[in-house]
Amino acid sequence: MEFLSVSPESLKRAAEVLRSGGLVAFPTETVYGLGADAYNPAALARIFEAKGRPRFDPLIIHIASSGTLEDAANLSLLNSETRRKLFLLAENLWPGPLSLVLPKSEKIPGIATAGLSTAAFRLPGLVAAVELISLAGGAVAAPSANPFGALSPTRAEHVRDGLGEKADMILDGGPARIGVESTVLDMTSEKIKILRPGGTPKEKIEELIGSVQDGFFTAEDAKNTPKSGFISPGQLKSHYAPRTPLSVFSENDIFNLPWKPGDAFLFFDSPSRNTWFESLSPRPSAKAVIRVLSPSGNTLEAASRLFETLHELDSLKISRIFAQLVPLEGLGEAINDRLRRAAKLG
Ligand code: AMP
Ligand code: MG
Repeated sequence: MEFLSVSPESLKRAAEVLRSGGLVAFPTETVYGLGADAYNPAALARIFEAKGRPRFDPLIIHIASSGTLEDAANLSLLNSETRRKLFLLAENLWPGPLSLVLPKSEKIPGIATAGLSTAAFRLPGLVAAVELISLAGGAVAAPSANPFGALSPTRAEHVRDGLGEKADMILDGGPARIGVESTVLDMTSEKIKILRPGGTPKEKIEELIGSVQDGFFTAEDAKNTPKSGFISPGQLKSHYAPRTPLSVFSENDIFNLPWKPGDAFLFFDSPSRNTWFESLSPRPSAKAVIRVLSPSGNTLEAASRLFETLHELDSLKISRIFAQLVPLEGLGEAINDRLRRAAKLG
């Protein structure tokens, strides 16, 4: 495995590896992806093998320009209203953390989409990623570059620790700016649905195309309904999980937990941490590990530090992580979704 910093030369090298059927882990603005040529079925099969990813979990096809959609998607199957919405989204939110599920063309092999006649497409918002995809032929399928079910990698070192020799090359482009995966939006039926909350907040989508539905399992669903209606494997209950057991708590509940030295607290903002310190005042000075995702309470910053912080807590060999759910504004929905799944709550 080659481990290289992003440069014009390493991008060229990486594109050659992709063109010859190899696997390249590369940075995007969301998380690091494990890429293979989206038109090469043997290369795609290697992604599933390297990640231990079930074959029923379709990949996101990363493209270098929205023009590639004419080739890789079958847009003639969309009605004119949906096409209008697609162009609005692509024009305003690409490049960016938004994956659009569309009818696929014959050119995308079935293995990329778990046999579905639809595929998720995304134009990533990191110049180096777009350059790589363009040099590699225009379409690169890339799930997150981690073993299936584990925490997503936000740094090249996370990829090296998780996948090691299973990738032919790892490109290091520094820490991911957004830090959670893309929002997945299904445009293949009348009712446009969010299948996975992610780096593009729902409000941004709705500003452009009007209201969309939640097709993922919300906290309410997790409480009320047994899991059914498996639409998108991104909805797997346990996913994005650290090795350390993690539980989630509402803003208030986290202040009154019984805890032991060696437990870790993951707070959303500094005021929450301070309230917790105050609640401790009658106690002896037992130590807990304390992390704050965003001192000023900004969900963008919190998202960018989420996986990074969970990776770090995992490396500290603590016994339990108590995580505070964050407010639902901005990327809050995506953060809570990842926390609930890390807690195996669905
Ligand atoms: P990942 O590549 O690990 O970030 O996740 C890809 C996720 O995108 C999958 O787990 C699905 O949830 C979603 N996805 C990809 N393709 C499709 C599709 N054709 N239909 C529905 N969901 C999809
Ligand atoms: Mg993933």
